[in-house]
Amino acid sequence: MMVETGELTKLQMYIGGEWVAPSGGEYIESVDPFTAKPWALVPRGNAQDADRAIRAADAAFRDGPWGRMHPSDRGVIIHRLGTLIEKHADELAEIEVRDNGRLLAEMRHQIRYVAKWYYYYAGLADKIEGVVHPCDKPALSFSRSEPLGVCVGIVPWNAPLLLFSLKAAPALAAGNTLVMKPAEHTSATALKLMELVEEAGFPPGVVNVVTGYGKEVGEPLVTHPLTRHLGFTGSTATGAYLYSLAAKDVKRASLELGGKSPNIVFSDANLDNAVRGVVGGIFGATGQTCIAGSRLLLHRKVHDEFVDRLTAFTKAARVGDPRNERTQIGPIANQMQYERVLDYVRIAQNEGADLVLGGKRPEHDECARGFFVEPTIFTGVHNEMRIAREEVFGPVLSTIVFDEPEEAIAIANDSEFGLAAGVWTSDMKLALRMSDRLQAGSVWINTYRDISYTTPFGGYKQSGIGRENGIEGIREYLQTKAVWISTAEEIANPFVIG
Ligand code: ADP
Repeated sequence: MMVETGELTKLQMYIGGEWVAPSGGEYIESVDPFTAKPWALVPRGNAQDADRAIRAADAAFRDGPWGRMHPSDRGVIIHRLGTLIEKHADELAEIEVRDNGRLLAEMRHQIRYVAKWYYYYAGLADKIEGVVHPCDKPALSFSRSEPLGVCVGIVPWNAPLLLFSLKAAPALAAGNTLVMKPAEHTSATALKLMELVEEAGFPPGVVNVVTGYGKEVGEPLVTHPLTRHLGFTGSTATGAYLYSLAAKDVKRASLELGGKSPNIVFSDANLDNAVRGVVGGIFGATGQTCIAGSRLLLHRKVHDEFVDRLTAFTKAARVGDPRNERTQIGPIANQMQYERVLDYVRIAQNEGADLVLGGKRPEHDECARGFFVEPTIFTGVHNEMRIAREEVFGPVLSTIVFDEPEEAIAIANDSEFGLAAGVWTSDMKLALRMSDRLQAGSVWINTYRDISYTTPFGGYKQSGIGRENGIEGIREYLQTKAVWISTAEEIANPFVIG
């Protein structure tokens, strides 16, 4: 719920079906990255708020109507939430843009698309079937899939509602209850969504949102003894740390973490499409996506021509107000991230990479106040450089040259990450050989940055554990129970098992 207090909108948390103020009475300013001015006050939750939310979710799971409801009926409510998201998509998009500066045009589209996650998993809710085992004992043994209980979702600021829904839709369809924590900079849409959760008819406590800093309210959610699962999207450092906390109590975790994804362009590729794909891969969302195609691997034969075309195409992109329909690249989402991106530009220059475009704040007036960085292209990068190894999470592209497919594979796989990879070629045999060898959870051939509710998404290596989306996505939120029914007339010898 949002309360206008003079200039700033004061938000409330949503716990156990009630709108609540943070128990510590403190708030965090949410800053509009285009104006660099605060626009909302986000409740600064703490361990007490986290405990209250987890208990509400646990009570809703154990004692509430949600746990007893037939999956078909749960599906109806989840589907209704999807309908409400579509109905309120423009409003949600406006809020998301104020929080993180993503393009309004893209967010209007993305939030309509978010509804599909609820439709898809609503449909799946009553199609989770058990198995009868070909048991070798005088028994009928069958297994069924059951929910885990209280699931915690912790999400970042780059695509708040989408990443929230990638977790919430399957977790709810599996019959769990939820406590979500959005990023401290971008909590407004998750809270707005709770108005729609209420309207959709979720019983109190099934979906809860607490807000605030990770250390103060996120960590107590993860370590709470009643929490059964952590779904996390964010940096590898934070994900690995939270995974270690979850491990202490043997809690399950799905982690979707960082990337340094290669986009590999061969000389026989449709270069017009490849330029568009590379630009979308690294400058879409101002480079602030885990799947950013931040390493461009170019075949030597097309290197110069491709760099020229890429530079010309990127130069023509309009950087500015994310609310303007004509803008193609918006600001960086927050000041800390803005400074980090500029730091990486300096690091790359010191390492000897050649700056061929960008690297600074754009000069025109529209970009004077916000956290803007020009789309930036480096050539002459070697895979050992920090700019090729570390995730920048901004509009910075590093170009590396290669001669042979084997070399491209070696460079692409020489990374601690393995989230995604792109291959641009007209030779389908080559494309399939590459897809075989690339160590990445998603391989895009002649496309980039596609995701869908139907198709599993997740990381190899340090890019994550588990998969979101598709039928595989709901498995993260289920556990198997085997049931044995004896068909024997008598228990012959109780001391000998086998
Ligand atoms: P980034 O902002 O680079 O994506 P994080 O991975 O740190 O970085 O943030 C993703 C989410 O994790 C945010 O919601 C953030 O508040 C949360 N978070 C950060 N640190 C912790 C922590 N120690 N415990 C729980 N949540 C955390």
